[in-house]
Amino acid sequence: MSVLSTNLGFPRMGPARELKTALESHWRGELDAAGLAAAAAERRADNWQRQTSAGLDHVPSNDFSLYDHVLDTAVMVGAIPDRYREAGTSDLATYFAMARGGHIGDREVTALEMTKWFDTNYHYLVPELRTAQTFELASTKPVDELHEARAHGTATRPVLLGPVSFLHLAKREGINGPMTSLDALLPVYEELVQLLHAEGATWLQIDEPILVHELPGETIEAIAKSFQRLRYAAPDLQVLVTTYFGGLRDNLDATLALPVDAVHLDLVTDAGQLDRAIEKAPSELTLSLGVVDGRNVWRTDLPALLDRLEPIRDRLGADRLMVGPSCSMLHLPVDLSTEIRLDGELSSWLAFATQRLDEISILTRALNEGRDALDAELAASGAAAKARRESPRTNDPGVRQRLDDHRPEDERRERPYRVRRATQTDRLGLPTLPTTTIGSFPQTKEVRSMRARFRKGKVDEATYTEAMRAYVRGAISFQEAAGLDVLVHGEPERNDMVEYFGGLLDGCAVTDFGWVQSFGSRCVKPPVIYGDVKRPAPMTVDWIRDAQSLTDRPVKGMLTGPVTILQWSFVRDDQPVEETCRQIAYAIRDEVTDLEAAGQSVIQIDEPAFREGLPLHAEDHKAYLDWAVAAFRIASSAVGDGTQIHTHMCYAEFNDIIESIAAFDADVISIEASRSRMELLGAFSDYEYPNEIGPGLFDIHSPRIPTVDEMVELLHAAAEVIPFDRLWANPDCGLKTRQWDEVRPALENMVAAAVRARAELGD
Ligand code: GLN
Ligand code: ZN
Repeated sequence: MSVLSTNLGFPRMGPARELKTALESHWRGELDAAGLAAAAAERRADNWQRQTSAGLDHVPSNDFSLYDHVLDTAVMVGAIPDRYREAGTSDLATYFAMARGGHIGDREVTALEMTKWFDTNYHYLVPELRTAQTFELASTKPVDELHEARAHGTATRPVLLGPVSFLHLAKREGINGPMTSLDALLPVYEELVQLLHAEGATWLQIDEPILVHELPGETIEAIAKSFQRLRYAAPDLQVLVTTYFGGLRDNLDATLALPVDAVHLDLVTDAGQLDRAIEKAPSELTLSLGVVDGRNVWRTDLPALLDRLEPIRDRLGADRLMVGPSCSMLHLPVDLSTEIRLDGELSSWLAFATQRLDEISILTRALNEGRDALDAELAASGAAAKARRESPRTNDPGVRQRLDDHRPEDERRERPYRVRRATQTDRLGLPTLPTTTIGSFPQTKEVRSMRARFRKGKVDEATYTEAMRAYVRGAISFQEAAGLDVLVHGEPERNDMVEYFGGLLDGCAVTDFGWVQSFGSRCVKPPVIYGDVKRPAPMTVDWIRDAQSLTDRPVKGMLTGPVTILQWSFVRDDQPVEETCRQIAYAIRDEVTDLEAAGQSVIQIDEPAFREGLPLHAEDHKAYLDWAVAAFRIASSAVGDGTQIHTHMCYAEFNDIIESIAAFDADVISIEASRSRMELLGAFSDYEYPNEIGPGLFDIHSPRIPTVDEMVELLHAAAEVIPFDRLWANPDCGLKTRQWDEVRPALENMVAAAVRARAELGD
């Protein structure tokens, strides 16, 4: 018996986002269901091919999804809310209606809510359960994909989202806890595992990622009970329970005691849990070691890892070990070999999903056959790690010195908000309840195609810049005509608020195909932060100065904040993240200083990722909040009293972090509020928020044009909890995904609403 190589899941989109192309042409009506199915089958075949040719022992199936695996699970167990049910609608149309909203027959239906998958940038659809929800096995997707893989010659290990994580992630009607549905749900899982076993599966992977959360005893018992039931339902089927995105901490003993054949541990986020696990694991239990990073792109130092793994193999025995990624590779780009822009040195430090497969396979073989058999591979891996460690490209003495020279006053505006406010009022001359937007205007087809042509070298820089400036001129004249008070240039030159800055900062690289699924067909291309970060030259000043030259009203300088750049990048793993964040903060601080020197009186620093950076465990929150708030303050505090700092966050859950938000000490914060109809303002009334706030007046995700009346009503609601003279009127978020014919009337109505609210609430 030997150590087994394993994988927990592979990216779905394809190396050139083939699935995205197929999905979007299906949604446009240009590709029929059979065409979409064929494109999806091609993706799965390619994924299995990559994994088998790397020589993996355990290859997953049912990790694929047309949209999201939590949605797949909801559909599979028959948890389809009534609004999506109508005779004659195809399963596929129902599925996409749940994912995206749209029409069922002639009724318009809203989509399921979407939220972040643990602390990743992947979003899942939140299943909706009724009080007395019933379940049935409504789809055989896991069985179908098992057969499909076998037809390609691959015996796979089906992956299921575990019943308890599924219930935990769902949202339910009524007051009863999520586990009240467990007894109704388990028979469906029992039927499914029996079916999978009957159809020839020998191993099954059940993901219970909620085990890395702090859990009430009831949930732990529910997990124990569900695994007992599944074991009993198919006694000969071997089961691997997987945990990832953190250590098991208090749940470790209970997890090791589950009646399963193997337990997967994420040893990248919590290497320390292994010793305890080895000590506590029952003697017949296999440990699946998540030792190569499933979420980050750094090439593994294989010899160093073998130094750690060989003693474990000797202690436990090879037949009790699996080696794999820390979590599903869903969060990695597919293949490094297609990259063009990255230089050779940087590429040699990286591994995407396809390269991770080779790493797993080399590690496993070295454990089974000895290092000598893999001499060349191990030497190459060790040399790359050494080169990266020693490279001057990761280390900039000037940046280091600057961090060492950090003074407490770098984190502080000179005077408190009260004093600054008076100076800003004099300087800016804004009305009460000023109107503004969050930054971006529609990224039109023309803007996107111009950018693509520029990137491919089909138009020169002058032509490109002039086209973007023409867009800015249009945006400014529209805003003046609409009567907005604080204007924006519209961000046409930015493909993405993080990637754009990633391309301009030293120590960061952008990729050609480093796409990662964010939700559905939507992908992002996170920059790779590989070295000390600094700003070699001003990044936004020319654009903003140009826009400002067109108008007498203030134009906001528009920047992405340090925490958001950090969260939405692949971050270096050779120093603490807070140090990297502080470096970015100083780079943004330099840009803020230059914008102020260029004459800008209002500067916005967006931090939409601030909240999602909160660690999964409450005990780790304080440390995070401390360094994240400090980073924002470093970025924002170099300016004089008369410069107004705005920040923006696109969510509404502030209750537990309101003090940290206040500690940002931004003069103005804009937040999402319209979807929850100002409910969030609860947080702002319980805690007296000291500075100015712009609660979003309309939902930018919807094409619907908000009426003046409804926005006036929202302003009245906001004025109940926030003094009227500290309120702003703005949308929920940037408008880049909308059309101009939606944006124009929406903003005209918003200005009209502000005018009316001033008259009604002014005194
Ligand atoms: N300024 C950015 C925009 O308007 C903010 C986007 C965001 O918060 N996600 O697009
Ligand atoms: Zn936003």
